[in-house]
Amino acid sequence: MYFEREALAYPLGRKLYQRFSHDPAVTVTFATSHNRVTGLPGSTPARAFAAAKRTLVVGVRRTLDFATCRPSAHYQLPLATGCPGWCRYCYLHTTLGTRPYMRVYVNVHEILDRAHQYIGERDPDITVFEGAATSDPVALEALTGSLGLAVEFFAGEPLGRFRFATKYDRVENLLALNHGGHTRVRFSVNWSKIIDHYEHGTPGLERRLAAAQEVAGAGYPLGFIIAPVFLSPGWEEGYRGLLEELGRRFGGVDDLTFEVITHRFTRRAKTNIEAIFPDHGLPMDEESRQFKYGQFGYGKFVYPAASLQLARGRFAGMLQEILPGSRLEYLV
Ligand code: SF4
Repeated sequence: MYFEREALAYPLGRKLYQRFSHDPAVTVTFATSHNRVTGLPGSTPARAFAAAKRTLVVGVRRTLDFATCRPSAHYQLPLATGCPGWCRYCYLHTTLGTRPYMRVYVNVHEILDRAHQYIGERDPDITVFEGAATSDPVALEALTGSLGLAVEFFAGEPLGRFRFATKYDRVENLLALNHGGHTRVRFSVNWSKIIDHYEHGTPGLERRLAAAQEVAGAGYPLGFIIAPVFLSPGWEEGYRGLLEELGRRFGGVDDLTFEVITHRFTRRAKTNIEAIFPDHGLPMDEESRQFKYGQFGYGKFVYPAASLQLARGRFAGMLQEILPGSRLEYLV
């Protein structure tokens, strides 16, 4: 663990330092900036990646201008960066490169104050914030409690809404909170073949669905993100099986939403993935994809428009049939 010295001026920074500085299993040291942590071990890309996934930096978020976050929200809510999971296709391969160490920000109240300003700027419209644009926030929640603070903050914001997505199941801290119906929890799921091949270090589907049932029982608006969707042979049967399982468990849930994100990759992610996981098995043939510029300035390879159109129709049809009360928010 690395700490910025300024982080110790905040209660969360002090709490984490006191907890881990005497833990013989943890090496604690100081860094000048959470953006510039040097000296991480790792003689090969795979080893450097493994070391980074075991490294946590506790810092102060200085940039309080939030990035936009289409299509799921208006703004990102930056509570953390990085994730301990090892999903081969992860979007963090683009943004964090080959050393995706995790960062948590201790100035949570300053971040939430800034969210309050953004909400005021859009009054009388609702402003939606995404808590999972740069991390899986549930994965780090047992350490920080920041997600719970955000949930309670948004409960008190009549024009603010919060949403986050996760593959993790440690939701117990969230269940008793006053969320006011303003936070939508979405579980990121996929069909078994995709989980088995490409997701590592994350809870399996059964644990995610059990956590989703607990969250729904606590009255949170619930959703599922199906991502990444690979339009490879057998995809329709695979996703039909997944939706039927969701139908059996969540057919009676009101206001259930779906977001479907087809597989995409940047050239930077592809280079990093090939270096870290030489036998990754991901379909990343550029010739079979369409190149598209993204909102953050880098281009990505997506499925061609005709394939997306077909997938949109198929998912809409399956949802109508299997979970008729649910809503498909988007398929990209
Ligand atoms: Fe990336 Fe999400 Fe997997 Fe974490 S759980 S490695 S953020 S895809």
